[in-house]
Amino acid sequence: MISRRSFLSLAGASALAFPATAWARQAPRSAVNAARLRNRLERLSTHGRPPGGTFADGVTRVAYSVADLTARAFMIDEIKSADIVPRIDAAGNIFARYGGQPDQPAILFGSHIDSVPGGGNFDGDLGTFAALEVIQAVQAAKIQTRHPLEMVLWAHEESTAFGIGTAASRIVAGDLKAGDMDRVWNGMTRGNAIRRIAGNPDQIETAVRGKGAWHSYLELHIEQGGTLDRAGTPIGIVEGIVGIHRYDVVIEGMANHAGTTPMGERQDALVAASALTLAVRDLARARQGQQVGTVGRLSVEPNSPNVIPGRAMLSVEFRDLSEAVLRELGEALRARAAAIAGETRTAITLELATTNPPAPAHSGVQEAIGQAAQAIGLPSRKLPSGAGHDAQMIAALCPMGMIFVPSVGGISHSPRELTSWDDCARGANTLLGAVLAIDGRGSV
Ligand SMILES: [Zn+2]
Repeated sequence: MISRRSFLSLAGASALAFPATAWARQAPRSAVNAARLRNRLERLSTHGRPPGGTFADGVTRVAYSVADLTARAFMIDEIKSADIVPRIDAAGNIFARYGGQPDQPAILFGSHIDSVPGGGNFDGDLGTFAALEVIQAVQAAKIQTRHPLEMVLWAHEESTAFGIGTAASRIVAGDLKAGDMDRVWNGMTRGNAIRRIAGNPDQIETAVRGKGAWHSYLELHIEQGGTLDRAGTPIGIVEGIVGIHRYDVVIEGMANHAGTTPMGERQDALVAASALTLAVRDLARARQGQQVGTVGRLSVEPNSPNVIPGRAMLSVEFRDLSEAVLRELGEALRARAAAIAGETRTAITLELATTNPPAPAHSGVQEAIGQAAQAIGLPSRKLPSGAGHDAQMIAALCPMGMIFVPSVGGISHSPRELTSWDDCARGANTLLGAVLAIDGRGSV
C-alpha cells in the first residue's frame, strides 16, 4: 500500500482507483476550479498546523481558538476576493450570498472549519470551501439562478468547545436556552467566545431563523466511515442522519466474598452486565438494516479483585435512521434485560436518558444529488450518516441533503484523515450540479 505522505504528493494518484473510461462521459456545463479548491484547502491547513509540521500532520483548530480566528479571517478574505460580501450573524456564522431573484428564498450550502484537537484537513473544510467554489463557478459561467445562492461557514460544529456539537447551527434552528451564553469552558463564557469570532451574544436570538428561511440546504462532507472507500464509489447520497437512543443502565446484585461464596449463590452484577453487553450486540445484528448498538461505558462497584461485583452501571446506545427501529430495539433490550436479571438474580433498571431524533434527507434533494453525479459520470450510492452534522439542525428549517465523498480507510478525526484531491473535486462538482438542478426545478 502506498504511504499517506507519498499519496498526498502524487497529484491525481487516486484516479487509479477507478476505471478512467467510466468518468466524465458528459462534460458539465460548468465546473469548480479544482486546483483553486486544493490550493485553498492547503492554505487553510496552515491555520492550526502543529509547529514544524506539514499538511500530513493535520490541524488542531478548535472553535474560538487563535487558529480558528485566523482561519475565519482567511475565509473572509477569500469570499471578498470573489466579489461577494460576507455577513456574520450573532452566533458567529459566516454567510455570503450571490445572485438570484430578490423575492426568492436562497439555496444554502456549506459546512464548518473548526476541528477536534488533532484533527484532519478535510472534515468540514472541504464542504465549506467547495461552497465558495460553487458560487465562483456560477459566476464564471455567467449563470443566472432563480434562487439566490448562499454559502455558510457554521461557526462551531465539533463538540470540543463547551461540550456542545453542531452548536452554531443549533442556535440558528432555534435551540437556545436561557443561560446558554453563561456556560464556561477553557476560562471563558460562551458569550465571550462568540464575541471573539465577531458574533453578538447580547442579541443572540437574532441568529435564530424560522421554518422556510431557506429554499433548501446542502452539505458536502467527507464520509468519515469506510463504506464508499471499500465499495470504490466516489459519491454518497446521504439518506439521513441517524437518530440516537441512549440508555443509562443500573444493575444491582450483591457484593460478597470472592473466596467463600459458592458459584450457585452469587448475584454478580458484572456477569449480568456482560450478558447485557452481548445482548446489545446480538439485537443490533439480528435484523436487516444498518442499525448499530454499543455499550461504551461500564463501571463496577466495589471494583476490587476479591469482591463479587455488587453494582454495575453502563450506557447503551442504539443508532438508526428510523425512530421505529430505535423504539423496537429498546423494547427488545428491556425484554432481554428482564430475562438476564432473572438468570443472574440481579435487578436491572433501564432509563432512556437521551434521544436525538433522526434527520431524514429530503427525497427531492437526494434525487438532485443523484442526477448531478450521473450527469458527470460518477457512480453513487445511498447511505446513512452515523455521525452528526450541521445539516441535522437545518433539516428542521428546510429540505436538506448531504453529499459524502470517500474517506481513505474510513479514518477521520485524526491527522491521517484523507480524501483524494480528485474526490474533493468530484464532490464539489456534484454539489454544484445539485444546486443548479434544484434551482432549475424551482422546487424540491
Ligand atoms: Zn464535520
